Amino acid sequence: MPKTQETVLEIDLSALKHNYDYLKSKLQKNTKFLAVVKAFAYGNDADEIALYLQNLDIDYFAVAYTGEGVALRDAGVTKPILVLHPLPIGFSAIIDRCLEPSIYNEKVLNRFMQMASDKNQKNYPIHLKFNTGLNRLGFSENAVDEIYSKLNTSDVVRVESIFSHLAASEDLSEKEFMRHQINTFKNISEKFKNLFGYQPMLHMCNTSGILNYPEAHFDMVRSGIGLYGFGNSEKENKNFRPIAALKSVISQIHDIEKGETVGYNRAYKSIASMKTATIPIGHADGIGRPYGKGKGYVIIAGKKAAIIGNVCMDMIMVDVTGIDCEEGDEVIVFDATNTADELAHSANTISYELITDISQRVKRIIKK
Ligand SMILES: *Cc1c(COP(=O)(O)O)cnc(C)c1O
Repeated sequence: MPKTQETVLEIDLSALKHNYDYLKSKLQKNTKFLAVVKAFAYGNDADEIALYLQNLDIDYFAVAYTGEGVALRDAGVTKPILVLHPLPIGFSAIIDRCLEPSIYNEKVLNRFMQMASDKNQKNYPIHLKFNTGLNRLGFSENAVDEIYSKLNTSDVVRVESIFSHLAASEDLSEKEFMRHQINTFKNISEKFKNLFGYQPMLHMCNTSGILNYPEAHFDMVRSGIGLYGFGNSEKENKNFRPIAALKSVISQIHDIEKGETVGYNRAYKSIASMKTATIPIGHADGIGRPYGKGKGYVIIAGKKAAIIGNVCMDMIMVDVTGIDCEEGDEVIVFDATNTADELAHSANTISYELITDISQRVKRIIKK
């Protein structure tokens, strides 16, 4: 890659392939793989990522909202797409674009069945989401009977899968609660099988679930963050390769005297003469204000340069005292070695938030 001359997010598809292969190596041969590409594939580029994964042997995609699924269809994604959190206003589009809804309560089930019936559907695939302890979305365990009495009398929809979500799959101190969730899920699937006379596909694990709970892989797993290169632990991070590098350039360098201030609200005051660099990336690009005031940093000439003062909308100022650099030089915000995970921790957040925050203003460059 030639050195960048503006703020860009470089996406390395060979790293994506590496992460996919690593996750697949954790699965039994016949376990299906669902790639979670919600939120622009975690801030990367949903179209490019999904089209690339579609050419590998991915079985399913998932997005959060209906509009994200429609965008993938427009981009040419033909594999099944599960919409994790559809709202009734999008049900017409779901059916028109062959998306598959997660159905998480009775109201949503009724509304979707009505729409499927209005559109003369038969056996339209739906996915039943059960709440086993996260208390976010999903039917409760004892809803299976009601669901049965509703579905038993109609053939407009067909249950393609039943699924649940672990509350703390990355936190090994929560093993007992995860086992409790897994058992609850097994009970639900048993109950379903007894009533319906067949068993749809079962799935429960996200990335950390894949790594930590092989006994809960069931028929399919759902991975997001792992594909993008993070394993949610120091040990597992070594097995993944972050696919994205966020780079920028130095626009201007200033020599600052002792006692001068830098940036809005004069939030930084120099205690000695120093050198600062201004970088064209700010909170509108996804580097939020919590990274300011010395918490976050960028890498210039291989050295850490702290973000000083307040993060502006379009710029940050960093301390480059003692760093051999000039205007036009490349700046690394994060890459495969200076990871988004570490940078996120500097501002008390997690990789998920930092990478999904990189705004659409930042140009994406795909490395094939
Ligand atoms: C986002 C999401 C995932 C993916 O989780 P990762 O930790 O990124 O692998 C899986 N399942 C559901 C229901 C989700 O909302």
